[in-house]
Amino acid sequence: MATKKTIGVLALQGDVGEHLRALERAGANAIAVKTAAQLASVGGLVIPGGESTTVMKLLSRFGLAEPIATRVRAGMPLWGTCMGMIVAAREVADLDQPTLGLIDVTVRRNAFGRQNESAEVDLTIPALGSRPFPAIFIRAPWIERAGPHVEVLAERDGHGVMVREGQVLGTSFHPELTSDDRVHRYFLSMVEQTPTVGNSRDAA
Ligand code: GLN
Repeated sequence: MATKKTIGVLALQGDVGEHLRALERAGANAIAVKTAAQLASVGGLVIPGGESTTVMKLLSRFGLAEPIATRVRAGMPLWGTCMGMIVAAREVADLDQPTLGLIDVTVRRNAFGRQNESAEVDLTIPALGSRPFPAIFIRAPWIERAGPHVEVLAERDGHGVMVREGQVLGTSFHPELTSDDRVHRYFLSMVEQTPTVGNSRDAA
């Protein structure tokens, strides 16, 4: 039987524990990532929800921005949820701070407005099957612009809220806060389908 894939969750700030547990339920070996050495041991990385301005600062302070960008450009799957999608985006409409630029989208932070700062919405996500996905939005961003190679996998009120470009996945919502593991399993299958080049543990 194939060995379990190791997926990291960036653990500088945000809802790390929920992602670790959901990834384990989905069938991965999940570890918290705070250092470049830990990053080198994973086959895929999740950037969780949290506060994008804080995490962008911590990424450069911990020297992780460059190693993450290098791994992802070499083909490592990356999934950003909410804050994580903001951090991974090429552009943020209302933020004057550099982001990782790993997926060709422009996002707008806190875009669903005050009344809707938090909501649970049944989303249609054809890539996950016909059963609606219970999507939890917390001060969530939406996709304002998606580049020509970006696939919009789900929309809410006419705005993209789940996108994929190659090995990079982004969700405005928080699948780690529900017991529905389909997005975690979807990401695990992206990792399983990725050749292990650049993953030091699997290559050893
Ligand atoms: N509003 C937060 C930000 O801009 C993201 C919120 C979240 O991750 N739940 O960073």
